[in-house]
Amino acid sequence: MKILVINAGSSSLKYQLFDLDTEKAIAKGVCERIGIDGHLKHTPLVEGKPVFNEDINLPTHAEAIAAVIEKLTSKEYGVVTSMSEIGAVGHRVVHGGEAFKGSVLIDSDVMATLEECIPLAPLHNPANIAGIKACASVMGDVPQVAVFDTSFHQTMPPKAFMYALPYKFYEELKIRRYGFHGTSHRYVSRRVPQILGIPGEDLKIISCHMGNGSSICAISGGKSVDTSMGFTPLVGLPMGTRCGDLDNGVLQYIMHKNGYNIDEMINILNKQSGVLGVSGVSSDFRDLEEAANKGDERSALALEMFFYSVAKVVGSYVAAMNGVDVIAFTAGIGENSDTTRAGICEYLTYLGCHLDVEANKVRGKEAIISTPDSKVKIMVVPTNEELVIAKDTMEIVKGRK
Ligand code: AMP
Repeated sequence: MKILVINAGSSSLKYQLFDLDTEKAIAKGVCERIGIDGHLKHTPLVEGKPVFNEDINLPTHAEAIAAVIEKLTSKEYGVVTSMSEIGAVGHRVVHGGEAFKGSVLIDSDVMATLEECIPLAPLHNPANIAGIKACASVMGDVPQVAVFDTSFHQTMPPKAFMYALPYKFYEELKIRRYGFHGTSHRYVSRRVPQILGIPGEDLKIISCHMGNGSSICAISGGKSVDTSMGFTPLVGLPMGTRCGDLDNGVLQYIMHKNGYNIDEMINILNKQSGVLGVSGVSSDFRDLEEAANKGDERSALALEMFFYSVAKVVGSYVAAMNGVDVIAFTAGIGENSDTTRAGICEYLTYLGCHLDVEANKVRGKEAIISTPDSKVKIMVVPTNEELVIAKDTMEIVKGRK
């Protein structure tokens, strides 16, 4: 079965077409500048087909989907002969609120509930909904499935997801920790037991998703029991440009001193903070490592703050789960930066965590990077959120889920 996976943003749309007989993507691409002018990069992942990389007019998401289908089925760039070969579409949807505990087949009731979730993710959910509507308009009644960033974390107990605010804010406004990167943490939670040959029910895993956005998840018996992002993806670890945890009183102080309104302030916390804000150099860990190696003190500080923050959250999740068997690193930084992994693990020797310096040199590949005598296994597990979405979509469409 072939499944099209869509990740729609407000002016961009990423896609991958999977052949689930082989579990491999056979084409991928991205539409950019939708609603502005438009650009499509389409990459067939089968031999002998060229890449298409040109400006084309993309006034709406529907035109973007139409362009994607045209390329996927075209003689020159295509990987399928007709649209009917695409059995279903799986959509990444950022926020499913408390309504969606897992992935769902999209119908009119689901669409109505997705609309109700817009206030929880005003920047992301409308774009995801636009992607779903665009597919419906171009692809007719091909089944569509929504896979949520939040749903893996719906197993968190109230003691982990509640904020110590007046209870009415939870009841009336649904203010609580939701968590994000759930598809990635779920992938790690399934892949680690497969690699180790140990049932997931018997494992306590701490999954460290470290990329442009970063979050950590405590996974006990295959279920998320706590995670570092919250009501929004702004909290937890310091990230590329996001501040992570912050004393709320700081907002009032800066806003009064500098005359910012709340939107300006939140924009600073989202876009000008994190390791970029501290270093003044870059949000990209490669740049920071290079600058720190050349003696830039603020870059070194930004990196050390990140390592320290990860180690503190890991420690708190060891407490939350009363132990840990595996610490897994994933996403751009987690998969590629041996210095970041080493910097974090230096704080974890009290747990009996011992990194194998040679094994830790790995990049972008599954590996166990702890020494054989380490009490906790340390692993690199490259994430594959698109494959999770494709598999969920197939199982739901086939009625297995
Ligand atoms: P992601 O959001 O998962 O795509 O991760 C992107 C981030 O991964 C980039 O902004 C970099 O900070 C980081 N990254 C990617 N490759 C490397 C590398 N070789 N060394 C350090 N950081 C990397």
